[in-house]
Amino acid sequence: MSYAIKVDGKVKLQDISTTKHNGIEEDDAREQTGRLGKELEELQELMFAAGTHGLLIVLQGRDTAGKDGTIRGLSRYINIQGCHVKGFKVPTSEELAHDFLWRVHPHAPAKGLVSIFNRSHYEDVLVVRVHELVPEKVWKKRYDQINEFEQLLAQNNTIIVKICLNISLEEQEKRLMAREEKVAKAWKLSVGDWKEREFADAYTEAYNDALTKCDGDHAPWYIVPADHKWYRDLAVTEILVETLKPYKDDWLRDLEARGEEAKAELAAYRQSLETK
Ligand code: AMP
Ligand code: MG
Repeated sequence: MSYAIKVDGKVKLQDISTTKHNGIEEDDAREQTGRLGKELEELQELMFAAGTHGLLIVLQGRDTAGKDGTIRGLSRYINIQGCHVKGFKVPTSEELAHDFLWRVHPHAPAKGLVSIFNRSHYEDVLVVRVHELVPEKVWKKRYDQINEFEQLLAQNNTIIVKICLNISLEEQEKRLMAREEKVAKAWKLSVGDWKEREFADAYTEAYNDALTKCDGDHAPWYIVPADHKWYRDLAVTEILVETLKPYKDDWLRDLEARGEEAKAELAAYRQSLETK
C-alpha cells in the first residue's frame, strides 16, 4: 500500500499527515487513479459474478472530510447495479429505541454486492461519546460489540474495509467557507459543522480510540490523508484494489468451474437433440 496508512497499533491521528504520504504529483495521481479504477471495476465484476463474498466499505471522517466526494469518485468505477450506498444520520426515535447496531445490520452487503457506508456504527463511539449522548459505561462497551459484529460479518464472507479520511482543521475551515460562497454548495451549510470544531480535540481522542480498539485483520482501518481530493481518491482506490486482489484467483477458478459445468450441460443437451 503506497498511499494510505494502515493502522498498526496505537493511533495518534494528530501526528499523521493530512496532506500526502509521499511525493506523487496531481497529474500522476489522477492517471494512476484511472488505472487502478479500471482494475477495481474488473474486480467488482468478478466478485459479483462469483457471488461468494460481499464488500463493505466504511467511510468516516470529520465534517467536510470528503465522504460524499469519495463516493462520487468511486461511482466512476463501481457498477451501481451491484452497489448500495447508505448514509447514517442522527438516529430516529425508532432507531434509538433499539440497540445501536439494529439500524446498521440490514445494510451489510449481500454476497456479490458492495455496500458503502457514509458514516456508520462508528458514530456511536464518536459523536455519541463526544457529546455524551449516552453514559460512558454504555459507549465503552461498544468497541467490543462493534468488533463482534464485524467478526460476524467477516465470518459470513464479508470483506470489510474501513477508511478514515483525515483532514486538517485549516482545510476544513476553507471547505466550510466555500459552502457559504457557492450557491451549489450552500445546501450543505450547517451551523452545527462550525460548532463541532470546538470539539475537535475530543473528536481526535474518540477517533484514536475507535481506530486503535477496532482494528483487526478481518476489518482493518486505513487512514487517508484527505486535504488533497486527488490524493484521497488515489489512496482510496488503491486500498480497494489491494483488498480485493487476493480473492481474484479464487473467483476466477469458481467462474471457470461454473463455465465448464454450463458447457457440459449444453453439450449434453445438443447430443440429446441429435439422438431424438
Ligand atoms: P451528514 O453526514 O452531514 O449528513 O450529517 C449527519 C449527522 O448525523 C452528523 O452530524 C452525524 O454526527 C450525525 N449522526 C450520525 N449517526 C449518529 C448517531 N448514531 N448518533 C448521533 N448523531 C449521529
Ligand atoms: Mg454535514
